[in-house]
Amino acid sequence: MTMPERGALIVFTGPSGVGKGTVLDALEASGAHFFRSVSATTRAPRPGEEERGAYHFMTVPEFERLIAEDRLLEHAEYVGQYYGTPAAPVDEALREGTDVILEIEVQGALQVRKKRPDAVLVFLLPPSMEELERRLRKRGTESEDKIRRRLEKASAECAMSDAFDYKIISDVPELSAARLAEIIRAARRSQPTN
Ligand code: 5GP
Repeated sequence: MTMPERGALIVFTGPSGVGKGTVLDALEASGAHFFRSVSATTRAPRPGEEERGAYHFMTVPEFERLIAEDRLLEHAEYVGQYYGTPAAPVDEALREGTDVILEIEVQGALQVRKKRPDAVLVFLLPPSMEELERRLRKRGTESEDKIRRRLEKASAECAMSDAFDYKIISDVPELSAARLAEIIRAARRSQPTN
């Protein structure tokens, strides 16, 4: 019996508000088949997020238990809250031959690179910092103070984008999604065979 070819592990990073989720929605709408990892977080849900299953929302002690039990592939603190990727669903999807996309911030992306050298790291860049600010404000979910903290974080994050394998400019979501699809295809071709 031949083993299924392993899926590709794609890390999709970019500052808060740049449009990572919108690009992944466009990729799904184009018919691409992939596993979209659901992160754990201690931040409070925004309206509608719980119903959409956007995150596993939990308390700090619950999150710290996941860390202690080594059940996270990576985790980071981002503007005062914990975020992390549960490892088991990712590994299961990869074993079954499904490509996996992690939508995470920079510190987590660099942890994944260390643990999984075969992961492909993609950075989604805003067309400009002014445009990023406009998108963050348009979302209308954060207070002024939180928007400020996210924008400060964004400058530091974009300064690290050279450490990534690929950079995509977040302009038209469908075009960014098409570029991401090409990157995934290339990652699959370069996978070691079983
Ligand atoms: P937000 O609060 O806007 O949903 O997320 C804040 C930042 O954390 C975003 O850049 C988002 O991509 C990132 N993030 C979401 N889930 C994870 C995760 O599991 N791990 C890490 N390291 N970052 C995450």
